[in-house]
Amino acid sequence: MTRKVISYPNPVLLRPAKPVEQIDEFIYVLVKDMTRLMYENRGIGLAAPQVGESLRVVTVDLSGPDNQEELTVYINPEIIHAEGEVTTEEGCLSVIGYQSRVTRFEKIKISAKNLEGQEVVQEGEGLWAICLQHEIDHLNGRLFIDHISRLKRALYEKKLSKWLDPKKE
Ligand SMILES: [Zn+2]
Repeated sequence: MTRKVISYPNPVLLRPAKPVEQIDEFIYVLVKDMTRLMYENRGIGLAAPQVGESLRVVTVDLSGPDNQEELTVYINPEIIHAEGEVTTEEGCLSVIGYQSRVTRFEKIKISAKNLEGQEVVQEGEGLWAICLQHEIDHLNGRLFIDHISRLKRALYEKKLSKWLDPKKE
């Protein structure tokens, strides 16, 4: 099966993903595909629902596709502590042609399993914290456009429906 990045309004992106019960060959291949697609599409984070798999798996590499030095895999990640507030510009490989300012927690602490099945707890701020919140949102069927105002959202939906069906007025 060849996986690819899917985009809104694909229903897989809109439903909560299931926890991973067992880290097996299926998950190893999924992570490999996600990592490849994340780099190919020049992203710094990707969640399994974005490649059509409704599972709680996230890949992150803040060093970017040109460096590929900091790949981290989070299985069943959960935010266990959050504080502060920060607003930054966000985009998403699954939300075509749109960026917007989104307000999120400034600092978070998460627990997750790594690919070896070990429990890890990690805390941080800045880009890492924003990226993890964005990706964990994906696991809960939420997109960054669920954080913007109703008016902005309506304008985006209108633009998108024209792109998807150029015949529509
Ligand atoms: Zn995204």
